[in-house]
Amino acid sequence: EQSRLDKVIALARHRGFVFQAGEIYGGSRSAWDYGPLGTELKENIRRQWWQTFVRGRGDMVGLDSSIVLPKRVWEASGHVATFADTVVESTITHKRYRADHLWEAFVAKRGREPESWDEVPDPDTGQRGNWTEPRSFSGLVKTYLGVVDDESGLYYLRPETAQGIFVNFSNVLTASRRKPPFGVGQVGKAFRNEITPGNFIFRTREFEQMEIEYFTPPAEANEWFEHWVEACWNWFLDLGVDPANMRRFDVPVDDRAHYSAGTIDVEYRFGFPGKEWGELMGVANRTDYDLKSHSEASGQSLTFFDQASGEKYTPYVIEPSFGLTRAMMAFLVDAYREEEVPNAKGGTDTRTVLKLDPRLAPVKVAVLPLSRNERLSPLAREVADTLRSAGWNIDFDDAGAIGRRYRRQDEIGTPFCVTVDFDSLDDNAVTVRDRDTMGQERIGLDALHAYLAERLRG
Ligand code: ATP
Repeated sequence: EQSRLDKVIALARHRGFVFQAGEIYGGSRSAWDYGPLGTELKENIRRQWWQTFVRGRGDMVGLDSSIVLPKRVWEASGHVATFADTVVESTITHKRYRADHLWEAFVAKRGREPESWDEVPDPDTGQRGNWTEPRSFSGLVKTYLGVVDDESGLYYLRPETAQGIFVNFSNVLTASRRKPPFGVGQVGKAFRNEITPGNFIFRTREFEQMEIEYFTPPAEANEWFEHWVEACWNWFLDLGVDPANMRRFDVPVDDRAHYSAGTIDVEYRFGFPGKEWGELMGVANRTDYDLKSHSEASGQSLTFFDQASGEKYTPYVIEPSFGLTRAMMAFLVDAYREEEVPNAKGGTDTRTVLKLDPRLAPVKVAVLPLSRNERLSPLAREVADTLRSAGWNIDFDDAGAIGRRYRRQDEIGTPFCVTVDFDSLDDNAVTVRDRDTMGQERIGLDALHAYLAERLRG
């Protein structure tokens, strides 16, 4: 029996949300490509995020900084020194594990520390004594730029978008004439040399983040921290995620990133084998760590002078950090349903439906001529083109039985199907079918745009 998660992944691959990267060459476990539907879904998530957190707020502006920054940025941020893990490798399976994870698993099970690595079993084989020496492993992805192929050309691909915001703090402050509390939002790719990428798009070496660095007077940091935890939580709820599948996790001090004075993760019930919950996003109080580090290392003051109070200070930073691709996985898992529905023979069929919020749905409307017919097709194509000009992604499908076509659209979460039939030629009206209720309504062509616009919400 396939797990629910396996079914969602199978659907995502089969319907072209996500493809394995380099599939014709055998594929990769750590990289995925986003197909026609995945690209739309990702774009819609990004757009909703940007609208809610950047355009929709008077205290936020946007930024799009480089993936490759001067090396000194990553030295000052602490990443070169601390963005590393200790790894052990099984000499039998050659699989690598984070040493602290295996060590902690031993302690959790046996209630004591192992005396040496020889005591720690290999999770795959159960055998002991087959580990290589623990080695340090940098989480930074390296690249070499320039004509001379040596260490002088070494650069890092950003492991988070955040640092691009910190190093532009003064630029943004001056250019946008802001003062704390205010924030900067950024969406873009990030790269991490993950030891164990996997679980589909949950953990990949190349992924997308949506991050906010919110600069506040130090005395207001805790208040804004609470504000942002609420705002992030509510963003998922507003987009239809079931709160029963979400929880908050107050990250204990030892597990926090080196810059954090407090982190709350929002976790989602992804349903991984042996581990139900996974981090969806996190909100961290980065204090004045980053601005101070960059001030010291660059010699440029990254402070704010408050003219009203005559005070100069380094703002604190509250950072809500979302994974765009990880959010996409949560939206897919959350929307997946299998429902029993009556069929024409008086029995029931199972239909698979993605109950995505209409704002996220990759296809907004499918236009379906009742049958492939030279009288119906021109009108149906005209209806599809008119709806496209409203800015919606529209599917046109005239192949096969209408019931089958409805099911195909249900499976990808299309909120509405518009059927053009022979009556349409006379009454200038179409049948609109609702994905969730499967109810159908006859709507005049002149009223169709307004009918859909109200229900698609943008
Ligand atoms: P984890 O503990 O899962 O490695 P993290 O705590 O290192 O994650 P952060 O540094 O807080 O993650 O990154 C912020 C967000 O970026 C995460 O909540 C997640 O949504 C996303 N993210 C981080 N690493 C990856 C990855 N390898 N693949 C996809 N998304 C990621």
